[in-house]
Amino acid sequence: MPTVKAYAAAAAASPLAPFEIERRAPGPDDVVIDVLFCGVCHSDIHQARDEWGGGLFPMVPGHEIVGRVSKVGAAVRGFQAGDLAGVGCMVDSCRTCHPCQRHLEQFCEKGAAFTYNGTEMDRKTPTFGGYSKQVVCHQAFVLKVAPTLDPAAAAPLLCAGITTWSPLRHWKAGKGTRVGVVGLGGLGHMAVKLAAALGAEVTMLSTSAAKEADSRRLGAHEFGLTSQKATFKRFANHFDLIIDTISAPHDYNAYLSMVRVDGTMVLLGVPPAPTPVHAFTLIGGRKSLAGSLIGGIQETQEMLDFCAEKKVAADVEVIPMKAINDAYERMMKGDVRYRFSIDLATL
Ligand code: NAP
Ligand code: ZN
Ligand code: ZN
Repeated sequence: MPTVKAYAAAAAASPLAPFEIERRAPGPDDVVIDVLFCGVCHSDIHQARDEWGGGLFPMVPGHEIVGRVSKVGAAVRGFQAGDLAGVGCMVDSCRTCHPCQRHLEQFCEKGAAFTYNGTEMDRKTPTFGGYSKQVVCHQAFVLKVAPTLDPAAAAPLLCAGITTWSPLRHWKAGKGTRVGVVGLGGLGHMAVKLAAALGAEVTMLSTSAAKEADSRRLGAHEFGLTSQKATFKRFANHFDLIIDTISAPHDYNAYLSMVRVDGTMVLLGVPPAPTPVHAFTLIGGRKSLAGSLIGGIQETQEMLDFCAEKKVAADVEVIPMKAINDAYERMMKGDVRYRFSIDLATL
């Protein structure tokens, strides 16, 4: 088994440090990818610090992976050595259950094999993510990345991109719809870009006054400062769709007051603790509070193709692997414009 350099958290309280993992020798359906860049998602922090519980350690995070194919198995179609390719949050699923048949592998009833902090479908072999020099993945879960996209800026599309694209498409954001995006971080900045590219009227709802100019540059038409009560009045009953990307506890009821009749607020952010919602918040206006988890593989490819066509990618700050612990601290302070992308050549 080939040994591959990586960065891992040995335990929930440990900083990330150099580590070695084994990748399987490629089978007939496998694609071997030399990782070029890996985005840093807030879910990496939640999991490496075991904020959601049940973490598997040592943990090699990273599920926004773009690399170059170095080898393919005999049965692989559509990928060859030298291609740019991506791997997102999943590396396998059962492929036979109802959600899998509907191309919603993220909701696999047997439990999808997540890229890290999980196991392969054998439920024994631990999965390790993209903070590593190489990944090996079944061809059904490998995405094509257009060579016209900058790989460092394309990497975050594999999670932040698809996670925001999927609800925008499901709830039909587009011309004539009002979309509010809450939280301008990695997910939030992709939500703004994608909603604007789909033709929606986009409002950025942020706690950071300093991000107003950026949010307009990213494509937002309006900006509301959520630390001010007046903002909730100004946008009362306004939005068809609110995309909530906040990673910390906050009052859903307050944000739902900005949803109009029959509108929906979709939770993407996963604060570590639950938040109460009052029934009246939803009853008055037949509002929906929903959630959404990444997106299926087919939909991820659609999003990547859309981004290549519209020249949309993440705004990234490229960092060396050894800067990862500092990057986590900076993300906790909201000090990232708007995604860190690790250059794996530095590992
Ligand atoms: P991020 O880059 O750290 O951005 C989070 C943003 O939330 C911050 O930039 C900040 O925006 C806002 N925020 C943070 N703390 C806040 C607080 N206490 N009150 C109000 N706003 C606050 O994180 P990310 O990578 O975008 O991830 C966001 C969340 O989505 C995480 O919980 C992550 O685990 C989750 N996630 C879910 C999925 C899914 O499939 N559902 C996929 C990926 C990630 P402002 O400065 O603009 O206020
Ligand atoms: Zn993620
Ligand atoms: Zn399944």
